[in-house]
This record gives sequence, C-alpha cells and structure tokens, in this order.
Amino acid sequence: MTAQETASSFSQLDIAPTAAHILGLQLPKPDGHPIDLALAWGCKNVAIIIIDSLGYDLLRWLLPSLENMRELSTVGHLFRITAVSNHTTPAIASILSGLLPEHHEIFDKAGAKESRILSLPEIAAISGQSCAVIMEQNGADVYQGLVEMVHGISDRIPPQDFDREACRMTCLALQERPRLLVSYFIGIDKSVHLGQGKEGIKKAALLIDRCIGEIVRAADEETLFIICGDHPVHAGPLKRTRGPYCVAMIMALGKSPQMRI
Ligand SMILES: [Zn+2]
Repeated sequence: MTAQETASSFSQLDIAPTAAHILGLQLPKPDGHPIDLALAWGCKNVAIIIIDSLGYDLLRWLLPSLENMRELSTVGHLFRITAVSNHTTPAIASILSGLLPEHHEIFDKAGAKESRILSLPEIAAISGQSCAVIMEQNGADVYQGLVEMVHGISDRIPPQDFDREACRMTCLALQERPRLLVSYFIGIDKSVHLGQGKEGIKKAALLIDRCIGEIVRAADEETLFIICGDHPVHAGPLKRTRGPYCVAMIMALGKSPQMRI
C-alpha cells in the first residue's frame, strides 16, 4: 500500500479547530477550520505530536525508511499543509491555538509565558478534560498548574535522550487515557542545527519513528493522531529556500490493525 496523500489547502491553523471539534470545545475566534475528514472518523480523544523541522519535503524523503509513520500515512492520510512561521515558538503557538502569529503574538519563549491567549490544552483543562503536555521545559512551564499532566524536558540533554524521554513520558501519560495529549520531539531539528548532514537527520527520524510506534500502540483505540511539523527545515543541506513553505501532517486513528501487532 502507498501513503494516502492529499495536497491540500489546509494549514497548521486547522489543527486546533479540528481537535477542539472532536473534544467538544470552543476556541475563541480561530483563524483555521476543522478538517471534515478527521471529524468523520468518530474519534473521542486527540493526540497532537509535534516533530520539530518535519517539513513536507523532508518527510517524503524519509518516509521509505520510517515504518510507523509510513503505516499511519497509509491507513490514515498524509497532508501537505501550509506552515505559518519559520520559527518554532510562534508555529507551536499557532498549532495549539488555531491563531495566526500576528493574532496570538507569541514570538519567543518569554512571550509564551506572558501571553494571555488560551490554547487548546488550557481550554480543555478549564472544561474539566484530562490533558497531558510533554514538551521542552520552557514550553511545558506555560502549562504548569493549569493542566493535569505536564512534563518538561531540558533541551540541554542530548537530543536522542530528549526524544526517548518524550516517548517514555508520553506512553506513561497515555495510561491515564487523557482526552488531549500534546507531545514534542526535537531530534531532527537538533541534528540539522548540529550540522550532522542527511545521515544524522535520518538517524534522528528513525528514533522518532520508533517512538511514534510505541506511542500509537499505547493509545486508546478512539484516539485521533495528528502528527505534524512546526516549520520546514530552516538550515543545512535540506533547507527549504523558496515557497511554498509546507510541513507534513499525518492524521490517523490509533486503532489501525497493522499498528496493533
Ligand atoms: Zn522548530
């Protein structure tokens, strides 16, 4: 089987509205819209997995090597979606709020802490839904005390250790059956910035792919997985130098029979 691919007009702004619709939540004035295809699957829970620097071109190049993400693309859908920023913090803020960067005005880590914009995990928590956030320490700090399960990981540890810890904590959080889970993987982006070349990127991607397999197997059968990049590769030999700037997004159900083996 080949990946079911959709060259779409969707963007990262549609992720939060899609998740909010499934969870029965209202986002204040989002710039994006729910993606009908995912709504039709009848999911109850949502797991958003953000992979730093997972550009669309990059995933297409990596996909033959990535067993789990290839499988999810086959049983679900792989989308090429518009990236709203070339920087991590504003892109993640858009993914989690459904707002354009000029509307959420979160451009750096300090801005994320000061912002009064409510993003999806906070709105879910306020509505009494169980929610887990596993990300880099500064990003996780924003949710401390607001969201039931928060686990921050230092980005000073080796990237492969970061991603293994993110995987471990995500699988642990899934045992509590959260309605919403947000998790973040750093290895591909770090490999790009450390100048490790294509082989380094592939090695980081293989580790993340193994993590995705473990996470999907640990999840509830009614969980919608949304796996997406924050921006295309913005340094090194695989840098995207001209538009359109797109990232990969895989949408799939956790109950794929192949993934359950
Ligand atoms: Zn990034």
